[in-house]
Amino acid sequence: MQTSDGNSTAIEKYFSENKRRESSSRLNFFSMTLIDGKLVADKLKNEIAESVKTRLANGKKQPHLAAVLVGNDGGSLTYVGHKVKACEQVGFKSTLLHFEDGATEEFILNEVQKLNANDDVDGFIVQLPLPKHIDADKVLLAIDPAKDVDGFHPVNVGKLTLGLETYISATPLGITKLLEHYNIETSGKEVVVIGRSNIVGRPASILLSNQAKTGNATVTLCHSRTKDLKEKTLRADIIIAALGKPEFLTADMVKEGAVVIDVGTTRVPDATKKSGFTLKGDVKFNEVSQKCYAITPVPGGVGPMTVVSLLLNTLKAVEQSGR
Ligand code: NAP
Repeated sequence: MQTSDGNSTAIEKYFSENKRRESSSRLNFFSMTLIDGKLVADKLKNEIAESVKTRLANGKKQPHLAAVLVGNDGGSLTYVGHKVKACEQVGFKSTLLHFEDGATEEFILNEVQKLNANDDVDGFIVQLPLPKHIDADKVLLAIDPAKDVDGFHPVNVGKLTLGLETYISATPLGITKLLEHYNIETSGKEVVVIGRSNIVGRPASILLSNQAKTGNATVTLCHSRTKDLKEKTLRADIIIAALGKPEFLTADMVKEGAVVIDVGTTRVPDATKKSGFTLKGDVKFNEVSQKCYAITPVPGGVGPMTVVSLLLNTLKAVEQSGR
Protein backbone atom coordinates (compact mmCIF):
# COMPACT_ATOMS: atom_id res chain seq x y z
CA MET A 1 0.00 0.00 0.00
CA GLN A 2 1.30 3.47 -0.80
CA THR A 3 0.57 6.83 0.73
CA SER A 4 2.20 9.86 -0.73
CA ASP A 5 3.15 11.39 2.62
CA GLY A 6 3.80 8.34 4.77
CA ASN A 7 0.96 9.26 7.09
CA SER A 8 -0.57 6.30 8.81
CA THR A 9 -3.70 7.34 10.70
CA ALA A 10 -6.34 6.04 8.29
CA ILE A 11 -4.15 3.13 7.35
CA GLU A 12 -3.59 2.01 10.93
CA LYS A 13 -7.30 2.29 11.51
CA TYR A 14 -7.96 0.20 8.44
CA PHE A 15 -5.62 -2.56 9.60
CA SER A 16 -6.93 -2.55 13.16
CA GLU A 17 -10.41 -3.13 11.75
CA ASN A 18 -9.29 -5.78 9.24
CA LYS A 19 -6.94 -8.06 11.15
CA ARG A 20 -8.47 -11.23 9.78
CA ARG A 21 -7.87 -10.59 6.10
CA GLU A 22 -6.54 -13.52 4.08
CA SER A 23 -2.91 -13.30 3.05
CA SER A 24 -3.73 -13.61 -0.65
CA SER A 25 -6.00 -10.58 -0.33
CA ARG A 26 -3.24 -8.67 1.37
CA LEU A 27 -0.96 -8.99 -1.63
CA ASN A 28 -3.47 -7.15 -3.77
CA PHE A 29 -4.23 -4.69 -1.03
CA PHE A 30 -0.59 -3.66 -0.73
CA SER A 31 -0.46 -2.43 -4.31
CA MET A 32 -3.38 -0.08 -3.71
CA THR A 33 -3.26 3.54 -2.57
CA LEU A 34 -5.51 4.42 0.34
CA ILE A 35 -6.53 8.03 -0.25
CA ASP A 36 -6.17 9.67 3.12
CA GLY A 37 -8.60 12.57 3.31
CA LYS A 38 -7.64 13.47 6.84
CA LEU A 39 -4.00 13.83 5.87
CA VAL A 40 -4.76 16.07 2.90
CA ALA A 41 -7.31 18.07 4.89
CA ASP A 42 -4.78 18.65 7.70
CA LYS A 43 -2.20 19.85 5.17
CA LEU A 44 -4.70 22.30 3.66
CA LYS A 45 -5.79 23.45 7.13
CA ASN A 46 -2.17 24.28 7.97
CA GLU A 47 -1.93 26.35 4.78
CA ILE A 48 -5.19 28.15 5.59
CA ALA A 49 -4.00 28.84 9.15
CA GLU A 50 -0.81 30.39 7.72
CA SER A 51 -2.88 32.62 5.42
CA VAL A 52 -4.97 33.74 8.37
CA LYS A 53 -1.84 34.61 10.37
CA THR A 54 -0.49 36.62 7.44
CA ARG A 55 -3.81 38.42 7.02
CA LEU A 56 -3.93 39.37 10.69
CA ALA A 57 -0.27 40.45 10.69
CA ASN A 58 -1.12 42.77 7.78
CA GLY A 59 -4.01 44.30 9.71
CA LYS A 60 -6.66 42.54 7.66
CA LYS A 61 -9.90 41.07 8.87
CA GLN A 62 -10.22 37.65 10.55
CA PRO A 63 -12.29 35.39 8.25
CA HIS A 64 -15.74 34.73 9.69
CA LEU A 65 -17.97 31.77 8.77
CA ALA A 66 -21.52 31.53 10.07
CA ALA A 67 -23.82 28.52 10.01
CA VAL A 68 -27.58 28.36 10.31
CA LEU A 69 -28.91 25.14 11.81
CA VAL A 70 -32.62 24.47 12.26
CA GLY A 71 -33.71 21.59 14.48
CA ASN A 72 -31.75 18.81 16.15
CA ASP A 73 -31.03 16.23 13.45
CA GLY A 74 -28.13 14.11 14.78
CA GLY A 75 -26.17 14.12 11.52
CA SER A 76 -26.57 17.86 11.01
CA LEU A 77 -25.48 18.61 14.58
CA THR A 78 -22.35 16.51 14.02
CA TYR A 79 -21.52 18.10 10.64
CA VAL A 80 -22.00 21.64 11.93
CA GLY A 81 -19.90 20.75 14.97
CA HIS A 82 -17.06 19.64 12.68
CA LYS A 83 -17.29 22.92 10.75
CA VAL A 84 -17.17 25.05 13.90
CA LYS A 85 -14.19 23.04 15.21
CA ALA A 86 -12.37 23.39 11.88
CA CYS A 87 -12.86 27.18 12.04
CA GLU A 88 -11.18 27.23 15.45
CA GLN A 89 -8.29 25.11 14.14
CA VAL A 90 -7.43 27.56 11.35
CA GLY A 91 -8.09 30.79 13.26
CA PHE A 92 -11.44 31.72 11.69
CA LYS A 93 -14.21 33.29 13.69
CA SER A 94 -17.35 31.16 13.59
CA THR A 95 -20.95 31.79 14.56
CA LEU A 96 -23.55 29.07 14.93
CA LEU A 97 -27.16 30.22 14.72
CA HIS A 98 -29.10 27.25 16.06
CA PHE A 99 -32.89 27.52 15.93
CA GLU A 100 -35.66 25.26 17.12
CA ASP A 101 -37.31 22.83 14.72
CA GLY A 102 -40.46 24.97 14.79
CA ALA A 103 -38.74 28.12 13.45
CA THR A 104 -40.85 29.50 10.60
CA GLU A 105 -39.70 29.95 7.01
CA GLU A 106 -40.22 33.71 7.35
CA PHE A 107 -38.02 33.79 10.45
CA ILE A 108 -35.21 31.85 8.73
CA LEU A 109 -35.43 34.06 5.61
CA ASN A 110 -35.11 37.09 7.89
CA GLU A 111 -32.00 35.57 9.54
CA VAL A 112 -30.51 34.99 6.07
CA GLN A 113 -31.10 38.64 5.19
CA LYS A 114 -29.39 39.72 8.41
CA LEU A 115 -26.35 37.58 7.55
CA ASN A 116 -26.32 38.99 4.01
CA ALA A 117 -26.20 42.50 5.46
CA ASN A 118 -23.66 41.76 8.20
CA ASP A 119 -20.26 43.03 7.02
CA ASP A 120 -18.46 41.02 9.67
CA VAL A 121 -19.73 37.72 8.18
CA ASP A 122 -17.72 36.76 5.09
CA GLY A 123 -19.60 33.60 4.24
CA PHE A 124 -22.38 31.46 5.66
CA ILE A 125 -24.12 28.18 5.16
CA VAL A 126 -27.60 26.90 5.88
CA GLN A 127 -27.21 23.31 7.01
CA LEU A 128 -29.41 20.92 5.04
CA PRO A 129 -31.82 19.23 5.37
CA LEU A 130 -34.21 21.89 6.66
CA PRO A 131 -37.45 20.86 8.36
CA LYS A 132 -40.18 20.01 5.83
CA HIS A 133 -42.22 23.18 6.47
CA ILE A 134 -39.31 25.32 5.22
CA ASP A 135 -38.73 25.57 1.46
CA ALA A 136 -34.98 24.91 1.16
CA ASP A 137 -34.84 26.30 -2.40
CA LYS A 138 -36.39 29.57 -1.25
CA VAL A 139 -33.84 29.86 1.56
CA LEU A 140 -30.87 29.04 -0.70
CA LEU A 141 -32.08 31.61 -3.25
CA ALA A 142 -32.16 34.25 -0.53
CA ILE A 143 -28.43 33.86 0.24
CA ASP A 144 -26.20 36.56 -1.25
CA PRO A 145 -24.17 34.64 -3.89
CA ALA A 146 -21.05 36.52 -2.71
CA LYS A 147 -21.47 34.86 0.72
CA ASP A 148 -22.69 31.48 -0.53
CA VAL A 149 -19.60 29.51 0.50
CA ASP A 150 -21.49 26.22 0.04
CA GLY A 151 -21.76 27.10 -3.67
CA PHE A 152 -25.44 26.07 -3.80
CA HIS A 153 -26.92 29.34 -5.14
CA PRO A 154 -27.98 29.16 -8.83
CA VAL A 155 -25.62 32.05 -9.64
CA ASN A 156 -22.66 30.04 -8.36
CA VAL A 157 -23.87 26.78 -9.92
CA GLY A 158 -24.29 28.65 -13.21
CA LYS A 159 -20.78 30.03 -13.01
CA LEU A 160 -19.44 26.55 -12.29
CA THR A 161 -21.29 25.24 -15.34
CA LEU A 162 -19.71 27.95 -17.50
CA GLY A 163 -16.28 27.24 -16.06
CA LEU A 164 -16.10 30.66 -14.41
CA GLU A 165 -14.40 31.44 -11.10
CA THR A 166 -16.88 30.78 -8.28
CA TYR A 167 -17.53 28.99 -5.00
CA ILE A 168 -17.54 25.32 -5.89
CA SER A 169 -19.68 23.22 -3.60
CA ALA A 170 -17.56 21.77 -0.86
CA THR A 171 -17.75 18.02 -1.48
CA PRO A 172 -16.94 18.12 -5.23
CA LEU A 173 -14.18 20.66 -4.54
CA GLY A 174 -12.79 18.35 -1.86
CA ILE A 175 -12.83 15.42 -4.28
CA THR A 176 -10.80 17.35 -6.87
CA LYS A 177 -8.31 18.40 -4.17
CA LEU A 178 -7.86 14.73 -3.24
CA LEU A 179 -7.31 13.72 -6.86
CA GLU A 180 -4.78 16.55 -7.26
CA HIS A 181 -2.91 15.61 -4.10
CA TYR A 182 -2.53 12.00 -5.25
CA ASN A 183 -1.63 13.05 -8.82
CA ILE A 184 -4.60 11.19 -10.25
CA GLU A 185 -5.02 12.32 -13.83
CA THR A 186 -8.58 13.14 -14.91
CA SER A 187 -7.95 14.47 -18.42
CA GLY A 188 -9.27 12.07 -21.05
CA LYS A 189 -10.45 9.61 -18.40
CA GLU A 190 -13.85 7.93 -18.20
CA VAL A 191 -15.55 9.07 -15.01
CA VAL A 192 -18.80 7.64 -13.72
CA VAL A 193 -20.63 9.60 -11.03
CA ILE A 194 -23.43 7.70 -9.28
CA GLY A 195 -25.97 10.15 -7.86
CA ARG A 196 -27.18 13.44 -9.35
CA SER A 197 -27.88 15.54 -6.25
CA ASN A 198 -27.42 19.29 -6.52
CA ILE A 199 -24.84 19.26 -3.74
CA VAL A 200 -22.60 16.36 -4.78
CA GLY A 201 -23.20 14.31 -7.92
CA ARG A 202 -24.25 16.96 -10.40
CA PRO A 203 -21.62 19.60 -9.49
CA ALA A 204 -18.95 16.86 -9.38
CA SER A 205 -19.93 15.80 -12.90
CA ILE A 206 -19.74 19.39 -14.15
CA LEU A 207 -16.42 20.08 -12.44
CA LEU A 208 -14.72 16.99 -13.81
CA SER A 209 -15.98 17.59 -17.34
CA ASN A 210 -14.97 21.28 -17.36
CA GLN A 211 -11.93 22.47 -19.23
CA ALA A 212 -9.85 22.76 -16.07
CA LYS A 213 -6.81 21.37 -14.30
CA THR A 214 -8.74 18.59 -12.57
CA GLY A 215 -11.26 18.22 -15.38
CA ASN A 216 -11.35 17.31 -19.06
CA ALA A 217 -12.83 13.93 -18.20
CA THR A 218 -15.61 12.21 -20.12
CA VAL A 219 -18.29 12.02 -17.48
CA THR A 220 -21.35 9.80 -17.24
CA LEU A 221 -23.82 10.94 -14.58
CA CYS A 222 -25.91 8.04 -13.28
CA HIS A 223 -29.02 7.98 -11.08
CA SER A 224 -31.82 5.69 -9.99
CA ARG A 225 -33.29 5.49 -13.51
CA THR A 226 -29.97 4.60 -15.15
CA LYS A 227 -30.13 1.33 -17.08
CA ASP A 228 -27.21 -1.09 -17.08
CA LEU A 229 -25.28 0.81 -14.41
CA LYS A 230 -22.76 -2.01 -14.07
CA GLU A 231 -21.88 -1.83 -17.74
CA LYS A 232 -21.06 1.87 -17.22
CA THR A 233 -19.10 1.49 -13.99
CA LEU A 234 -17.04 -1.33 -15.51
CA ARG A 235 -15.81 1.13 -18.16
CA ALA A 236 -14.87 3.80 -15.64
CA ASP A 237 -11.33 4.85 -14.80
CA ILE A 238 -12.72 6.85 -11.88
CA ILE A 239 -15.97 6.12 -10.02
CA ILE A 240 -17.54 8.62 -7.67
CA ALA A 241 -20.20 6.88 -5.59
CA ALA A 242 -22.62 9.41 -4.08
CA LEU A 243 -25.98 7.75 -3.72
CA GLY A 244 -26.35 7.08 0.01
CA LYS A 245 -26.84 3.32 -0.30
CA PRO A 246 -24.41 1.46 1.99
CA GLU A 247 -21.99 -0.88 0.21
CA PHE A 248 -23.84 -0.50 -3.09
CA LEU A 249 -20.73 -0.60 -5.30
CA THR A 250 -19.34 -4.14 -5.32
CA ALA A 251 -16.14 -5.57 -6.83
CA ASP A 252 -17.93 -7.02 -9.86
CA MET A 253 -18.90 -3.45 -10.84
CA VAL A 254 -15.33 -2.11 -10.87
CA LYS A 255 -12.55 -2.64 -13.38
CA GLU A 256 -9.01 -3.51 -12.29
CA GLY A 257 -6.97 -0.40 -11.56
CA ALA A 258 -9.88 2.00 -11.18
CA VAL A 259 -9.91 4.91 -8.75
CA VAL A 260 -12.92 4.82 -6.43
CA ILE A 261 -14.14 7.83 -4.47
CA ASP A 262 -16.74 6.96 -1.84
CA VAL A 263 -18.88 9.92 -0.83
CA GLY A 264 -21.56 7.95 1.00
CA THR A 265 -22.02 8.36 4.73
CA THR A 266 -25.03 6.43 5.97
CA ARG A 267 -25.58 5.83 9.66
CA VAL A 268 -26.30 2.11 9.98
CA PRO A 269 -27.60 0.91 13.38
CA ASP A 270 -24.87 -0.93 15.29
CA ALA A 271 -25.54 -2.07 18.85
CA THR A 272 -21.81 -2.72 19.43
CA LYS A 273 -21.00 0.99 19.04
CA LYS A 274 -21.40 3.52 21.84
CA SER A 275 -23.03 5.92 19.38
CA GLY A 276 -25.44 3.16 18.30
CA PHE A 277 -24.43 3.36 14.65
CA THR A 278 -21.62 2.71 12.18
CA LEU A 279 -20.89 5.10 9.33
CA LYS A 280 -21.06 3.19 6.04
CA GLY A 281 -19.92 4.31 2.63
CA ASP A 282 -21.51 3.50 -0.71
CA VAL A 283 -18.65 1.14 -1.60
CA LYS A 284 -18.05 -2.40 -0.36
CA PHE A 285 -14.56 -1.41 0.67
CA ASN A 286 -13.06 -4.80 1.58
CA GLU A 287 -13.70 -6.30 -1.85
CA VAL A 288 -13.52 -3.22 -4.10
CA SER A 289 -10.18 -2.14 -2.62
CA GLN A 290 -8.64 -5.40 -3.91
CA LYS A 291 -9.14 -4.22 -7.49
CA CYS A 292 -8.38 -0.52 -7.17
CA TYR A 293 -5.45 1.65 -7.97
CA ALA A 294 -6.71 4.03 -5.28
CA ILE A 295 -9.74 4.30 -3.01
CA THR A 296 -11.08 6.52 -0.25
CA PRO A 297 -12.10 5.00 3.10
CA VAL A 298 -15.22 5.93 5.05
CA PRO A 299 -14.71 7.65 7.38
CA GLY A 300 -11.48 9.53 6.70
CA GLY A 301 -11.81 10.03 2.94
CA VAL A 302 -14.12 12.61 1.42
CA GLY A 303 -15.67 13.82 4.71
CA PRO A 304 -12.67 15.81 6.06
CA MET A 305 -12.17 17.32 2.60
CA THR A 306 -15.73 18.66 2.53
CA VAL A 307 -15.08 20.60 5.72
CA VAL A 308 -11.75 21.99 4.58
CA SER A 309 -13.22 23.03 1.22
CA LEU A 310 -15.77 25.13 3.06
CA LEU A 311 -12.87 26.86 4.81
CA LEU A 312 -11.16 27.44 1.45
CA ASN A 313 -14.34 29.03 0.09
CA THR A 314 -14.63 31.25 3.17
CA LEU A 315 -11.04 32.38 2.77
CA LYS A 316 -11.82 33.16 -0.86
CA ALA A 317 -14.88 35.16 0.26
CA VAL A 318 -12.92 37.37 2.65
CA GLU A 319 -10.17 37.88 0.09
CA GLN A 320 -12.67 38.84 -2.61
CA SER A 321 -14.43 41.26 -0.26
CA GLY A 322 -11.16 43.20 0.09
CA ARG A 323 -11.65 43.40 3.86
P1 NAP B 1 -29.30 12.40 -2.44
O1 NAP B 1 -29.71 13.82 -2.57
O2 NAP B 1 -30.12 11.47 -1.63
O3 NAP B 1 -29.17 11.81 -3.91
C1 NAP B 1 -28.91 10.46 -4.12
C2 NAP B 1 -28.71 10.24 -5.58
O4 NAP B 1 -28.41 8.86 -5.78
C3 NAP B 1 -29.95 10.56 -6.43
O5 NAP B 1 -29.56 11.23 -7.61
C4 NAP B 1 -30.50 9.18 -6.76
O6 NAP B 1 -31.15 9.11 -8.01
C5 NAP B 1 -29.25 8.35 -6.80
N1 NAP B 1 -29.55 6.94 -6.53
C6 NAP B 1 -30.26 6.42 -5.52
N2 NAP B 1 -30.32 5.09 -5.64
C7 NAP B 1 -29.65 4.76 -6.75
C8 NAP B 1 -29.36 3.55 -7.41
N3 NAP B 1 -29.79 2.38 -6.93
N4 NAP B 1 -28.62 3.58 -8.53
C9 NAP B 1 -28.16 4.76 -9.02
N5 NAP B 1 -28.40 5.95 -8.44
C10 NAP B 1 -29.13 5.95 -7.32
O7 NAP B 1 -27.83 12.24 -1.91
P2 NAP B 1 -26.63 13.28 -1.60
O8 NAP B 1 -27.10 14.38 -0.76
O9 NAP B 1 -25.86 13.57 -2.84
O10 NAP B 1 -25.73 12.30 -0.70
C11 NAP B 1 -25.26 11.06 -1.16
C12 NAP B 1 -24.47 10.39 -0.06
O11 NAP B 1 -23.32 11.18 0.20
C13 NAP B 1 -25.20 10.28 1.27
O12 NAP B 1 -24.78 9.11 1.93
C14 NAP B 1 -24.72 11.50 2.04
O13 NAP B 1 -24.78 11.32 3.44
C15 NAP B 1 -23.29 11.55 1.58
N6 NAP B 1 -22.63 12.86 1.67
C16 NAP B 1 -21.40 12.86 2.17
C17 NAP B 1 -20.70 14.04 2.22
C18 NAP B 1 -19.31 14.02 2.76
O14 NAP B 1 -18.76 15.07 3.02
N7 NAP B 1 -18.70 12.84 2.91
C19 NAP B 1 -21.26 15.23 1.76
C20 NAP B 1 -22.54 15.18 1.21
C21 NAP B 1 -23.23 13.98 1.15
P3 NAP B 1 -32.50 9.95 -8.36
O15 NAP B 1 -32.05 11.36 -8.59
O16 NAP B 1 -33.01 9.29 -9.57
O17 NAP B 1 -33.39 9.82 -7.17
